[in-house]
Amino acid sequence: MNQDIRAYNNVLELIGNTPLIRLNSILKDYPGNYYAKIESFNPGHSSKDRIALYIIEQAEKKGILKPGDTIIETTSGNTGFSLAMVSVIKGYKCILAVSSKSSNDKIDMLKNMGAQVYVCPAHVKADDPRSYYQVAKRLHEEIKDSVYINQYFNELNIDAHYASTGPEVWKQTNGKLTHFVACSGTGGTISGTGKYLKEQNSAVRVLGIDAYGSVLKKYHETKEFDPNEIYPYRIEGLGKNLIPSATDFDIIDHFEKVSDEDSAHTARALVKSEGLFLGYTSGAAIQGVKQMAEQGEFTEDSNVIIMLPDHGSRYMSKVYSDDWMNDQGFFDSKNEKDVLQVQF
Ligand code: PMP
Repeated sequence: MNQDIRAYNNVLELIGNTPLIRLNSILKDYPGNYYAKIESFNPGHSSKDRIALYIIEQAEKKGILKPGDTIIETTSGNTGFSLAMVSVIKGYKCILAVSSKSSNDKIDMLKNMGAQVYVCPAHVKADDPRSYYQVAKRLHEEIKDSVYINQYFNELNIDAHYASTGPEVWKQTNGKLTHFVACSGTGGTISGTGKYLKEQNSAVRVLGIDAYGSVLKKYHETKEFDPNEIYPYRIEGLGKNLIPSATDFDIIDHFEKVSDEDSAHTARALVKSEGLFLGYTSGAAIQGVKQMAEQGEFTEDSNVIIMLPDHGSRYMSKVYSDDWMNDQGFFDSKNEKDVLQVQF
């Protein structure tokens, strides 16, 4: 090895330490300073690289994983891609049970990263044998020397963000942040980062973004699981039809619900206003911030850090397809600013 050549030893060394970028345009009508933490700068293009590496390395430390073993997970796509990437470098097999709601782009990416993929129906109950939870559980029982990551019910998901995202945000802001905003899916990001930040300064407000069609906000407010809250929605990776134990509800001060349509328009507006080509939940996060700003959550002195979880390239056949937007009826709305391509 030539010591003069400054190179990373492998792609995993690039995980974490993502940049904070000031938002100059999209939130300019609201009081406060807004900064986005751009998780697509991770080598697997999402925040899930952090938990994939952390959980696998914890299992290695405990002697649970050895080269050649199999890693199994349920995933909306991003966690799968990160696990598959870590598996390539560390020599594991990777099997993923994926929701049929995931875009084809995401599924193809997983396969190309070497994972074996099972696509499971999105709109069945979690305890249905066809659900991606049950499929993953069954595969774990059947395959010897396999580890089930189980991100929704794995405390290490919280620990991963407590160990990396939290300290990064604190350092990058010199402790001057007033609000931390993150989408909640497994809840790992908001819980781990929020816990670290509140330990440094208990006044930091931790704000979660939830989807219409998900139970999280209602559960947070009432401590009761209300199945009437559940209905299909299109945003991938945000909200849930069950209560994940990887969510620490006590850390979260408020949940804001966002719609598929508003989030899609906001994701597209983020590209055009800030040059940030990011995922559907990044649009959801900014949309939630707008709504909370309108409710008076922020003042001129607020320093708001917004986690933007993944890259736009994963949504070419969805949010960034005019045809898809049109099929959803999203172009019928009054707030539409995009212009459909003229057909000749
Ligand atoms: N956005 C996207 C695109 C995701 O895949 C996820 C993870 N499911 C989230 C947001 C939410 O992150 P977390 O699971 O840490 O709550």
